[in-house]
Amino acid sequence: APVGAVPQAGGPGRDRLALLHRVGRVDPASLDDYRAFDGYAALRRAFTLGPAGVIREVTDSGLLGRGGAAFPTGRKWQATAAQPDHPHYLVCNADESEPGTFKDRVLMEGDPYALIEAMTIAGYATGAHRGYLYLRGEYPRARRRIEHALAAARTRGLLGPDVLGQGYAFDIEVRRGAGAYICGEETAIFNSVEGYRGEPRSKPPFPVEKGLFGKPTVVNNVETLVNVLPVLTMGAEAYAATGTGASTGPKLFCVSGSVSRPGLYELPFGATLGELLRLAGQPDPERLRAVLLGGAAGGFVRPDELDIPLTFEGTREAGTTLGSGVVLALDDSVPLPRVLLRIAEFFRDESCGQCVPCRVGTVRQEEALTRLLDRRNGEAADTAADVALLREVGAAMRDASICGLGQTAWNAVESAIDRLGAYA
Ligand code: NAD
Ligand code: SF4
Repeated sequence: APVGAVPQAGGPGRDRLALLHRVGRVDPASLDDYRAFDGYAALRRAFTLGPAGVIREVTDSGLLGRGGAAFPTGRKWQATAAQPDHPHYLVCNADESEPGTFKDRVLMEGDPYALIEAMTIAGYATGAHRGYLYLRGEYPRARRRIEHALAAARTRGLLGPDVLGQGYAFDIEVRRGAGAYICGEETAIFNSVEGYRGEPRSKPPFPVEKGLFGKPTVVNNVETLVNVLPVLTMGAEAYAATGTGASTGPKLFCVSGSVSRPGLYELPFGATLGELLRLAGQPDPERLRAVLLGGAAGGFVRPDELDIPLTFEGTREAGTTLGSGVVLALDDSVPLPRVLLRIAEFFRDESCGQCVPCRVGTVRQEEALTRLLDRRNGEAADTAADVALLREVGAAMRDASICGLGQTAWNAVESAIDRLGAYA
């Protein structure tokens, strides 16, 4: 996939990318390549700062989670480190399954040691001696590269009983997901690793208190962890100077659909949606019909809204979401009702069935969208009734579902009705 960047005005990452700078330029199998290209500088600095100093840097950097929910990483680390109950665990959520998302795959395939180094830092800061990498089952190349890198890191004393001779013990185990979207929900990961069905648990308690095996656990997405490397090598202040005040640092965007250069783009937070689409080869503006932000759990925006800034706060203010960074452009060759039905099928298929609002609601949503799609010269009143039903079912799913899947299963359909005028 092509990898690109917008130059930052005077920023510290102007002539190099902070997250993707090694991807495609180093041999992902070579630890020597990694070390020659800044590898393990961040871990060395972590050892000089000590766990509390690392957490301070991460907090001061303003780093927000990149899995989709944008929770402050420093707060999560601090909360886990402070728990008196032991052992503490680290889980890296690499079960990347949001339709249209492929950023974590590129990072793991192209720069596997970066994730291992970042996990070691996270473990050190939060008092964990064991990390689990919960890897999407459909990422066999990433698995091979990560396993190879783990073995090499162990051989060189970068993992194991005495990391870098600093008296800190840490190792990582890879657990493979088995193809269920819901297993990427953090508490479903715990059940899956523990050998149970991959069903979400109710929160609270949050994982920082009671997570894997009932112990304090920090769960971070791959991209979030990889951001910790520039935080430590640049320093929190320089990192926080990139992007905007509320969304600091760089962000990866997965651009797909009706663009001529689909791929993964690294940009500092704050560029507009229109700038990103131009980089990716925007379709003829006359033909662009909608852009889906945030994936199936996200929402559509109109072609006249391309000045939305790509920040967590900017998309929130615009009544949409950045999610994990999906940007899917749709032109007039794509029938929107079919896209909506496909999204509904996806959620119906992936619902774990544990709670009624989601188990039944996703089926009712799909049925209503099917009727709307199939209707030929139907009564206007029928369309209005189905749209009203979709709203009612959507509200029930959002308000009463246990986890994010059910809570967001109506987002895209709602935004298509309200912003794009679908079925009007
Ligand atoms: P969430 O808002 O419930 O939680 C976000 C994180 O913050 C979690 O780790 C949670 O444990 C932690 N947290 C929240 N409140 C806390 C508190 N008071 N104390 C300590 N920790 C706290 O969101 P979520 O359900 O984990 O994730 C939903 C997001 O996941 C959606 O935005 C969606 O876009 C995204 N998602 C991403 C993918 C992908 O492939 N990247 C797939 C599906 C969903
Ligand atoms: Fe399962 Fe859906 Fe309930 Fe989540 S909301 S626990 S996926 S049934």
